[in-house]
Amino acid sequence: MSKYIFVTGGVVSSVGKGITVGSIGTILKSRQISVSVQKLDPYLNVDPGTMSPYQHGEVFVTQDGAETDLDLGNYERFIDVNLTAESNVTSGQIYSAVIARERRGDFLGGTIQVVPHLTTEIKERFKKLAQSSQAEVVIIEIGGTVGDIEGQPFLEAIRQMRNDVGRENVLYIHVTLLPYLTSTQELKTKPTQHSVNELRRMGIQPDIIICRSDYPISEGIRDKISLFCDVDRQAVIPLPTVPTIYEVPLVLEEAGLGQLIVDRLNFKSQPSDLCQWRELVRCLKEPHEPVNIALVGKYVELKDAYYSVREALQHAALYHDRELNLLWVHSEDLEKDSSEALLRSAQGIIVPGGFGIRGIEGMIKAACYARNNEIPYLGLCLGMHVMVIEFARYALGLDKANSTEFDATTPYPIIDLLPKQKTIPDKGGTMRLGNYPCQLINNSRAGQAYGQNLVYERHRHRFEFNNEFRPRLQKAGTIYSGLSPDGRLVELCELANHPWMVGCQFHPEFGSRPNRPHPLFRDFIGVAKNILREGAQPPLPLSSSL
Ligand code: GLN
Repeated sequence: MSKYIFVTGGVVSSVGKGITVGSIGTILKSRQISVSVQKLDPYLNVDPGTMSPYQHGEVFVTQDGAETDLDLGNYERFIDVNLTAESNVTSGQIYSAVIARERRGDFLGGTIQVVPHLTTEIKERFKKLAQSSQAEVVIIEIGGTVGDIEGQPFLEAIRQMRNDVGRENVLYIHVTLLPYLTSTQELKTKPTQHSVNELRRMGIQPDIIICRSDYPISEGIRDKISLFCDVDRQAVIPLPTVPTIYEVPLVLEEAGLGQLIVDRLNFKSQPSDLCQWRELVRCLKEPHEPVNIALVGKYVELKDAYYSVREALQHAALYHDRELNLLWVHSEDLEKDSSEALLRSAQGIIVPGGFGIRGIEGMIKAACYARNNEIPYLGLCLGMHVMVIEFARYALGLDKANSTEFDATTPYPIIDLLPKQKTIPDKGGTMRLGNYPCQLINNSRAGQAYGQNLVYERHRHRFEFNNEFRPRLQKAGTIYSGLSPDGRLVELCELANHPWMVGCQFHPEFGSRPNRPHPLFRDFIGVAKNILREGAQPPLPLSSSL
């Protein structure tokens, strides 16, 4: 039977609860304990698929095609697992499941209530994941902070779990923030005390408190939290801000969290082995020559909108011993200013996914600049669409070439809906989602990068390359380096007369891992790092005969 770790948040959101959960997974896995993870999102949306990235950052797509919270990306990267739809539960899913059963008549005669109906449905989701994953530990993160109205049924459900599966099989971890007052130069514990009180009001006494802070946490502060929150002293775990998120598992392990969890949950585990992880962090913290990559998108004000893209670039840069210097370029700015002004120092240009017309012409300009100046280019889904549109305008002289997503009446719909998609009225969960196969052409950039014939990649889009234009674009210099096995869908394309200009219909960023960069990102950075831009000096040879 699985044991459960429930992680709640206090004081404020965005203190890195997701990273903490991923890191707990890392330190348990380092002891050969199998883990699975689940995120509970208290909002009423069924999934984040219909939400703007400005709301909660990127939508992370699982292999089985669920549109989920970006924290799942952190879990996958930290624990190196591929999660499924079962790992993200929202209030919207819980309510709609219970109400559907009520309509069907499953509760005839009964009054449907938050307790027990919603809470039972929530607990079923915990148990289902435990069952399907067969993990020894299921870590469950409750989104938001204690005290949020929407979060209450989830807190009540995790409280009940203690009796359902036995006290010895459940651990409650509370992640809080210790604010720093500049005037008195001290960290304050009062908000933590209040949030623990709030948790207790729901009947939950935390076993462990992880304290986030931008400043070192003194022993006195730990004593105080231990006393006021009634938690063992060694169970007050300081987590000061560190230069890289990948250092968090090491900090937590150092503070004794791994041993504490193992003891509390009565595991007879192997000693922790974090050697590889330590090596990764050591490399990350070493100084490296920079590689300048321009990320051209319309949500660049909110960096979390491109979370997995940024991480994938970082993994690839690390592979090449480079430090990622990301230039965030707003695609609307490119519409106003010259490409040269904004992209002059870029050694590589990446155009990630997105929806809607805003900023599209700016992205097309970025693709044009990359093509003209032989700058490595990686287009992810929408980034592939703009690359193909730009090439059709240039090479075929079709000035009005476009995607029907942006111009429904374009005479040259280079990117279009598949006929069967044209009749779907719903917006949520109706795209081509999750893993689909892609057959590669060996002697292409993409084929070389993968070094395999068949790969599976995660999708999230409605529009596709329009096959009507395939022959003409091929003649003009487009290589279709990846196709669906039946040959009907273009999954990857690239330009023949360019050092490295590749677009993919899928989202490779979701599959990248810190120690295993995705092949497309790896080769993109591999070519970009050797591009010399204005003002850049070639590195001096180390051994010189001067
Ligand atoms: N908006 C485009 C589509 O729906 C691209 C989506 C994406 O980039 N994920 O096909």
